[in-house]
Amino acid sequence: MASKLYSIRMRAATGDRHISGAERIAEAATVDQIVRELVMRAMGRTPAPEQIFVNVEYLGDQGLRTLPALDVITLDAPDVKTGRSAAVCVLQEAGVSRRAAEAALHHLTRGATMRGAIVMDAQSGERLEPDQQKGVRASRFDWSEEARAEIQRRLAAAGLTHFRTYEAIALATKVASAPGIVAELCWSDDPDYTAGYVASLKTGYVRLPTLKEVGDPKGGRAFFVNRETLNLETFLQYLQTEPVLIDRPGAYRAMTPRVEDCTDRMRSRRPESTKEK
Ligand code: AMP
Repeated sequence: MASKLYSIRMRAATGDRHISGAERIAEAATVDQIVRELVMRAMGRTPAPEQIFVNVEYLGDQGLRTLPALDVITLDAPDVKTGRSAAVCVLQEAGVSRRAAEAALHHLTRGATMRGAIVMDAQSGERLEPDQQKGVRASRFDWSEEARAEIQRRLAAAGLTHFRTYEAIALATKVASAPGIVAELCWSDDPDYTAGYVASLKTGYVRLPTLKEVGDPKGGRAFFVNRETLNLETFLQYLQTEPVLIDRPGAYRAMTPRVEDCTDRMRSRRPESTKEK
């Protein structure tokens, strides 16, 4: 990308309810086209949002950090129950306690209705975000043009053509490199989009096609953190202000989860003293 770069943020809402959002980084020449695309996207939601906020901000001479995208693994869990059990399992593999994973699932099931994410202690499940109404928004990230074209091609070959998939992979890639992060859990509040994911540097981007029923408008996001190493200010600063460009796509593979295998693995990892007799 050339040097004059802008961060473009779109957020659509009806009153306090978050409806749609997007993050892009663009060269000056493409800013107006991207703004139009994002406004059209927000207006395409039914019912249309009552407010659309678009923020275009010159990134100045801030350095642009580049990251390779997380690898994508689809765990083809057939229904919501299996999908959510698999999500808890993958979160545990990433270092989140069962208690915290279940606390986050509970919040997302009720519908977080925030424009940002919950920040949660990965052990206790305690919420740490400074404003629980708004949550914390990750901002200033995008694919490079070449990497976007390549990830779109790889995902399309696997039948995944929705813009949400590659946009979420970009967000998850930035979040997975945040100082103090352990893992992320997300499913959309778009009633027509049932897929979600668990992501971390350890597990990659684990996509679960069915984390809620079609027609359910409830969803949200949780960032799990290691409270012992977390500096909340540095964490928020990275997520909200550091520009990140994803310049290499990850690999893609599909797997069928066997939740029993996962449960066995977790059991064998627990310390001797806590194993069931
Ligand atoms: P979406 O996948 O866009 O439907 O978003 C699902 C939920 O994730 C939203 O309701 C927000 O709570 C949260 N969210 C969306 N975008 C962001 C972001 N950039 N940073 C943090 N949380 C987000």
